[in-house]
Amino acid sequence: MWKAIADHISQATGQPFAGDQTRSVGGGCINRASSLSDGDRTFFVKLNQASQVEMFAAESLALRQMYDTRTIRVPEPICWGSEGDTAYIVMEWLDLGGGRGDTEAWRQMGRNLAALHNTSCDRGFGWDRNNTIGSTPQFNDWMDNWADFFAEQRIGYQLRLAGRRGGNFGNKERIVEAVRAQLAHHQPEPALIHGDLWSGNASITSEGTPTILDPAAYFGDREADLAMTELFGGFPPAFYRGYEKASPLDSGYAQRKSLYNLYHVLNHFNLFGGGYASQAQRTIDRLLK
Ligand code: ADP
Repeated sequence: MWKAIADHISQATGQPFAGDQTRSVGGGCINRASSLSDGDRTFFVKLNQASQVEMFAAESLALRQMYDTRTIRVPEPICWGSEGDTAYIVMEWLDLGGGRGDTEAWRQMGRNLAALHNTSCDRGFGWDRNNTIGSTPQFNDWMDNWADFFAEQRIGYQLRLAGRRGGNFGNKERIVEAVRAQLAHHQPEPALIHGDLWSGNASITSEGTPTILDPAAYFGDREADLAMTELFGGFPPAFYRGYEKASPLDSGYAQRKSLYNLYHVLNHFNLFGGGYASQAQRTIDRLLK
């Protein structure tokens, strides 16, 4: 398998690559990760079952779109495919040695994310293809109206999945209508967003370059990215200062934040179960009041 991946890298980069030195990389949630090196050049490779190849195709497309904006650093995607029963994605290796203490880098992370969010789309809200959030399908059919998009394709879909897993948070149609109503007067510009921006997917390189990883990208409300940064512990304060200075947030963000994070909490319930049910229920109860 590694030989086939190395051959694909040679073909994709136009430079012969015969790397056979691998080292596994920890920290991922979904895939097995590894470095692949010939002692000179090193790549980052994620592996999964062959049936997951479309997930890597979508990740590669997202990284390419984000990379090409030249706004915020992401690993450049190299190639993806499957070999036997294994699917793979190969991207540029980044030395993610920087720390949370690098205030200037985090301020820059905020500024660069704001610049990414300035990438808009005249097709509305959605994306060129469906992708995944964690390992859950994420649907991205184009829609003109953000309230409809978020209510139906984000909350509605996760509620249906939850129902199949025994999670009952109340009448699904009523919840979806309440989400739509809360967003009805909010008309954001479609923005290219990362889509899964928790702290594990944002790092500083050893050279101090702010970087984001592992996107679940689509054109949505930029506030959805900001909300997710606050969901599991938050990013360093310099990040928010950098973002706000570049691109101030609307005052309604504080109200919408927990609604946007309801999507991720429901997804966590669907992936992991447990205490996420009560967290989701609290947000839904507030929404229905
Ligand atoms: P998963 O898709 O399984 O969640 P991630 O994309 O989050 O995997 O990657 C797992 C870990 O590998 C990350 O937490 C990070 O530490 C490291 N990593 C991710 N991308 C790169 C890269 N391009 N170069 C070096 N290390 C990386």
